[in-house]
Amino acid sequence: MKFSGLQKTSLLDYPDKIASILFTPGCNLRCPFCQNHKIAFDPQPPFLQENTALSILAERKKYVDAVVITGGEPCMHRELPKFLSKLGDQGFSVKLDTNGFFPDVLEQCLEYVDYVAMDVKTSCEKYPLLGALDTETLLHSIDILKKDTVPYEFRTTAVPDFLTSQDAQAIGKLIEGTKTYAIQQFTPQNAFDKHYQTQKPYPPEKINELCEIIAPYTEKLIQRN
Ligand code: SF4
Repeated sequence: MKFSGLQKTSLLDYPDKIASILFTPGCNLRCPFCQNHKIAFDPQPPFLQENTALSILAERKKYVDAVVITGGEPCMHRELPKFLSKLGDQGFSVKLDTNGFFPDVLEQCLEYVDYVAMDVKTSCEKYPLLGALDTETLLHSIDILKKDTVPYEFRTTAVPDFLTSQDAQAIGKLIEGTKTYAIQQFTPQNAFDKHYQTQKPYPPEKINELCEIIAPYTEKLIQRN
């Protein structure tokens, strides 16, 4: 595998652990609010090769408990499960971030990960606005994670155009019965589409209202700023 970057330390990206983050190049979606669009839409060399990444992480082992694989979309890389197994061999806890559009790879990864965070970005009917042809694979991934093979969360970034009260109701139905769902505040600054760079995030009262809509569908609901 190759990577677009490695962030050596993060206290925010793995629940209760100090983590390093690896960013995979490329993404199948084209979310207009994407914050990582440089590596997602037009990944450019130099890339970090797998062996170099593993060496850097081995050196960091005394400071870091965990590795987060994010993107772009990690699961579009079919060699991902094998790479994750190598991280496990090095003694790291592994968290995988995914948009849920590659259920076959996701399923192969479960053996090697300790936590999965999967985006449920909006209602199914709005996914074409994010570049998705259909949501069949997304729904399959939701079902895979609901089997509880590994701890996981579904999560949504509260982009106003994509998380109306109606969208929240639809998302609730999609994730119904899940253990953990997280809603995270939208940060406009680095959005791909200029329109979203100036879109105001929801005020706290609206986020609370959305949480009330989704809360009946999940055991635990997390709000992130
Ligand atoms: S799925 Fe994530 S990386 Fe891909 S376009 Fe959407 S926000 Fe960007």
